[in-house]
Amino acid sequence: MALFAGPPWSPSQLPPHPLQIILVIVLADLAQYWGHRLAHQVPLLWRFHGVHHTSTSLDWLAAYREHPIDGLYSQLLLMGPAAFLGVHPITIMPVLVFRGLWAVLVHCNVRLPLGPLGILLGDPVLHRWHHAKRVTEHNYANLAPYLDVLFGTHHRPEKEDYRLGVEGDFPRTFSAQLIPGWQRAMEALRRVFTVDCSSIPEAQSGSDTLNSESPAGARPEMRIGGSTLE
Ligand SMILES: [Zn+2]
Repeated sequence: MALFAGPPWSPSQLPPHPLQIILVIVLADLAQYWGHRLAHQVPLLWRFHGVHHTSTSLDWLAAYREHPIDGLYSQLLLMGPAAFLGVHPITIMPVLVFRGLWAVLVHCNVRLPLGPLGILLGDPVLHRWHHAKRVTEHNYANLAPYLDVLFGTHHRPEKEDYRLGVEGDFPRTFSAQLIPGWQRAMEALRRVFTVDCSSIPEAQSGSDTLNSESPAGARPEMRIGGSTLE
């Protein structure tokens, strides 16, 4: 029997060191901050992230108003550091659950004074400013306001007399927002297939009067989508 056969566990079975968990949290916060900031500055990413900003009032449901691609993008940012460091998702499950619940909380229409903890955890009032219609280049870190302080984007106005929402040409309905351009495509189709009856003589508009009054072989003129069909 060998005296030095090594430990009866493999390194991957060791519980993660607390510092490893802290590193995962800090890296995930950094990834979320810069990913969120890019989502506001890169037009393609904004096309998807902007859906989340179309809410004109905030409550817990507003946290879930997002484009699926934006949701996937956020999850990749949050899970990327753990995957990179080889930390199993089950290990950081409490952190993930806390993040999910806190993301809902910061969208609620409540005040939550956190005192000194407010530098480590974002609160709803701080996040409301991020959803302001006029200015949205502040408070990108939902959970870690110290990153906004570090990168010069922290902002907490004294008064809250700003409107929420988004400016620009975003469609109004959620279904139209999910598929960019969907509403415009539907309107174009509607124009093409709308029958313009204003050019049809009244005597020819009813099917029972067409044959008796019209000369043999003559057909009413119909316009579809602005072009004449014959
Ligand atoms: Zn945003």
